[in-house]
Amino acid sequence: MRPAKREVKAPEKREEISRACPAARSFSGRMGEEKKRYACPCCGCRTFPVKAEEAAAFICPVCFWENDLFLSGEDEQSDENHGLTLREARENYRKIGACCPEMLPHVRPPEPAEAAPGEKTETGKGKNG
Ligand SMILES: [Zn+2]
Repeated sequence: MRPAKREVKAPEKREEISRACPAARSFSGRMGEEKKRYACPCCGCRTFPVKAEEAAAFICPVCFWENDLFLSGEDEQSDENHGLTLREARENYRKIGACCPEMLPHVRPPEPAEAAPGEKTETGKGKNG
């Protein structure tokens, strides 16, 4: 038995696209399009501006996994990620909060809107430093 997943819709502010920049307009395509985010294949946070299969070489700011479109499975080594497999990267993210230790200085915690659904963000876990 599984509890039904409840979708929470947060009220989103519509961001105005600067009219001064025609490139931004053509990129956005339709006006009034709502800002959608897609889950990172590694950490599951919604950091991707487009679907993972379309986000070539996009680097997730939360786990620093570089999206590799050529992976056929999670056990295949990714050239984009120094031979790391997606499975290893996920493990690392769970343990240390980055896809690999080298990327730790670059990552940032997910914003509330990006946090993976069903996963609670850890709060109050402070370190004395
Ligand atoms: Zn990620």
